Amino acid sequence: MELVFLGTGAGVPSKERNVTSIALTLLQEQNSVWLFDCGEATQHQILNTSIKPRKINKIFITHLHGDHVFGLPGLLSSRSFQGGEEKVTLYGPEGLKDFVTTSLKVSGTHLRYPIEIQEIAEGKIYEDDQFTVFAKQLDHGITSYGYRIVEKDRPGELLVDRLKAHGVHPGPIYSQIKENPFVDIANGQRLISEDFVGPNKSGRVLAILGDTRAMATHHEFIKDANVLVHEATFEREKEQMAWDYFHSTTTQAAEAARQANVEKLVLTHISSRYQGEDNHRLLQEAKQIFSNTELATDFFKLDITAHS
Ligand SMILES: [Zn+2]
Ligand SMILES: [Zn+2]
Repeated sequence: MELVFLGTGAGVPSKERNVTSIALTLLQEQNSVWLFDCGEATQHQILNTSIKPRKINKIFITHLHGDHVFGLPGLLSSRSFQGGEEKVTLYGPEGLKDFVTTSLKVSGTHLRYPIEIQEIAEGKIYEDDQFTVFAKQLDHGITSYGYRIVEKDRPGELLVDRLKAHGVHPGPIYSQIKENPFVDIANGQRLISEDFVGPNKSGRVLAILGDTRAMATHHEFIKDANVLVHEATFEREKEQMAWDYFHSTTTQAAEAARQANVEKLVLTHISSRYQGEDNHRLLQEAKQIFSNTELATDFFKLDITAHS
């Protein structure tokens, strides 16, 4: 479970930052990749990574501003030529279906795989046996969603030393113990599985917010996340501008992370007015309020651990 920042700029691309897209690789968990937003040239950015477009099977769109969706038709189209046969499901605000189907139709694009487009509302939008995804409306002038990805608890590790002490040595019996409440072994003894499996590992929680003003009303939604990805379009001094344009500053994002008790904050969606050495200053502004902060640059990767 790893985040790969494919584009970290706001509004327009710059030489340093492409517009927004974030990949969540779930290769070990599901052999798939989920994409959050798909700004223009996201498919070019992917070429610089090990991500295979055919493995992208879910795309979550935060909102329909161009810097978050103009890469979608191209990516979907190219995926047809990159061995993509598995269905792709898109989630996003009302209007997403019009945008995608019209782009594909008028350009005469025929995908070689099925797509499903779900225009979402707040609440639970997806669930499988490993993950649940929730959406919440933010504050951005047009409908903009945040996503909370909650991994279900995973079974604990087998207590191998304890098994060996009972004379049970590695073999198929180990997976039987993991999968059954009890197992009868050759000497007639019954092993109660929970005696030989460690405590459940708690699932990881990730919150990825679209463009938004930083608001106290979001804290419940991002609460206790292992990682919070928050926009920081502007520096600390530009609070009024952030408010006027429905964006956040570095320090507002950091304050949200602190108040919501998240473990780690990643800032992204940085205005193109900031270049090179500005990055350090922006990061320090946030760190003064919330020390476990990173400022994403394009191709920044972050492993999501239970304790980041
Ligand atoms: Zn944006
Ligand atoms: Zn926007």
